[in-house]
Amino acid sequence: MYVNLCAARITRLFVFHRCTRVLFFFFLCALAQISVRAADHHKWCYDRQNKTCGPAHWHEWYSSCGGKKQSPIEIHTSKVKRKAELKEFVFHGHNEEMKGVKVTNNGHTIKLSFEDEITMKGGGLSSTYRAVELHFHWGNSSHPGSEHTINGKRFNVEMHVVHYDIKYKNIKEAKAKADGLAVLAFFYNEGEENVGFNAIVNALNGVRHEGQENKMLSTFKLNQLLPPMENLKQFYRYDGSLTTPTCDEVVTWTVFELPSTLSKSQLAKFLTLNIGGISTTDPPKVMVNNYRPTQKRSSRPVYASPSATGASARPVVFLGSAGRTSVAFLILLLLFW
Ligand SMILES: [Zn+2]
Repeated sequence: MYVNLCAARITRLFVFHRCTRVLFFFFLCALAQISVRAADHHKWCYDRQNKTCGPAHWHEWYSSCGGKKQSPIEIHTSKVKRKAELKEFVFHGHNEEMKGVKVTNNGHTIKLSFEDEITMKGGGLSSTYRAVELHFHWGNSSHPGSEHTINGKRFNVEMHVVHYDIKYKNIKEAKAKADGLAVLAFFYNEGEENVGFNAIVNALNGVRHEGQENKMLSTFKLNQLLPPMENLKQFYRYDGSLTTPTCDEVVTWTVFELPSTLSKSQLAKFLTLNIGGISTTDPPKVMVNNYRPTQKRSSRPVYASPSATGASARPVVFLGSAGRTSVAFLILLLLFW
């Protein structure tokens, strides 16, 4: 009887403990889900704003930011591989006036969103891509702020034109596919006034504070912002990621080698923009140095178009055996002259 009582108690205790463990397990799962959801919406920033949410921390909340195919990267022209297939781009709609362009200060950059049907193909891409937005990365009055660098050189400003593959329904669907996005990167340095940029520079007045949004009053054509077609033959190509959280590794990058210019006063307009101030309770800060540091290239190849600068772009003088004999003969002749 006593033995039976004990056995019943032990069974009850065991069941109780098992239940507790199961409940504890569910509690942990719920906690994990909550923390994952919190991570999805974590406020990220650049170091200039607050070092505790800067690029070095992004991977803590957005796991892709710690991946192996991240962007931007440093492009060493001595290490690129020449690729004949990287032929000229074919643009459609770039020389037509854009309507309904929306300008937004999202607290990280200035973004222009498009409604018009603007596409591109060629350039070694296997599909047609539609442009949906462009935005900028810049430094401050004494430091350049492009994201990609070429042979260690950083440019004043970098513009990204974001496209998605039209085989997908929209950018949201494309962002979930490894070949979903193609981004074109253009560099700008201080120099002559870039008249094509005035429509954008003027629009910056209406979005000086985070959260402000405006329809662009003056129309412009996308090709006004780009270098002449002749310069668009020189570019580099590699597979990488978005350079801001969520850092999805779904981007086919094209980095055009030759920078265009913006005047000192045009560049200065970017430095009048603010983070915070109206839509948030944070005190306003000047929006500067909104670029991510370069990431490890690792084993990823970087390809150069036939006209781009690269290792194999240096003229190679090939001398056959007859040529070599002639050169040796000429040297000997000079020595004994
Ligand atoms: Zn960007």
